[in-house]
Amino acid sequence: MSGSAYETTNKYLQDGFDALGLNPKTEHMLKTPSREVRVELVITRDDGSVGNFIGYRVQHDNARGPFKGGLRYAPSVNRDEVQSLASLMTWKTALIDVPYGGAKGGIQADCRDLSTSEVERLTRRLVETVHEFIGPTEDIPAPDMNTDGQVMAWLFDEYSNFHGFEPAVVTGKPVDVHGSVGRDAATGRGCMFALREVMNYDGEQLEGTDIAIQGFGNVGSWAARLLHEKGANIIAVSDITGGYCDPTGLDIPAVYEHVVAEGDLETFDDADAISNEELFTLDCDVLMPAAIGGVLTEENADDVQADYVLEAANGPTTYPADKILENRGVTCIPDIYANAGGVTVSYFEWTQNIQHFSWNETEINDQLEERFVDAHEAIRQTMEEEDVSMRVAAFMNAIERVCHATEMRGLQ
Ligand code: GLU
Repeated sequence: MSGSAYETTNKYLQDGFDALGLNPKTEHMLKTPSREVRVELVITRDDGSVGNFIGYRVQHDNARGPFKGGLRYAPSVNRDEVQSLASLMTWKTALIDVPYGGAKGGIQADCRDLSTSEVERLTRRLVETVHEFIGPTEDIPAPDMNTDGQVMAWLFDEYSNFHGFEPAVVTGKPVDVHGSVGRDAATGRGCMFALREVMNYDGEQLEGTDIAIQGFGNVGSWAARLLHEKGANIIAVSDITGGYCDPTGLDIPAVYEHVVAEGDLETFDDADAISNEELFTLDCDVLMPAAIGGVLTEENADDVQADYVLEAANGPTTYPADKILENRGVTCIPDIYANAGGVTVSYFEWTQNIQHFSWNETEINDQLEERFVDAHEAIRQTMEEEDVSMRVAAFMNAIERVCHATEMRGLQ
């Protein structure tokens, strides 16, 4: 048994605690969320029937700043998953050094069964129910799985109905609705910087690297395009309809155009069809899970042929799989570093909103890059000093920052 998502996150956290030698009281406090809100959301469906949905917002820690994290809409959303993802946000924001804590929210709903106006009503109903728990200095949601700039615009609009004009209540908004240039690409761009830093340290280059990407949503598609631009060979991509492989390298702009036109990869025929499961075991240099959690398990970790696993998704590797990969010499670039680009540019968006001033894209991308370079250096230093894996080092650095803030504020 691999354990639940929350158990997995806590096991990774425990490895960090053990390496740092924290006391059990502090460990318990850092594992447990500060606040959890579970709400029933009732809307009138387009056909006149009543729709009942369950929503969660878990606020994990705010020692370093307001709670911060995405909002996902998916059938798989449950309390355990949201607890795990909220905790990961605390460590991610600390590691990449943006002044936030961690939170996550979700609605248990399948967007494929909902019309656009139903998604809008559900979003507005969520805000109506939780608006007292969120706010620009309290808890700032952002996009996550199946939520986008449009959902964030509704969220901003509905929150403003209660509290007046407050664009900083949510990030990932469309650029025309107080969003930031560069936010849409940010998570994918951050993945590219993380991989470049890790590979350069090993004397390797992105150019000519064979990469297989599971998932072609916002994160996977941006990462694919940016890595392709840098000369990497994206040899496979996949989505819910299956995997598409070309060992000589896919024409990523054509793949992207296909998805924009058709909505998914299904009829893309300029590649060999493979299953999502086969994608994990392809002969490649880098395997990039960029979709759901818990996909690398005891069942497939032994068959992974890549030298690097770049965790673009949150929590893609189960704890036993992580140990298998580590023993086999596969470098796991942990989620709290690899996919921190989104929340980093969320921070830039929030600061722009607060200042009522906008930055240009070059400034955004340069500052994003700087944070990835700095975080990588700090991770390497801990790896060398403590002789630990990249994941343990990343958690150690993040835990130290959160503990220090907690102690200085006297919250213990
Ligand atoms: N949902 C993204 C994540 O998991 C972004 C969160 C944010 O920007 O607050 O990191």
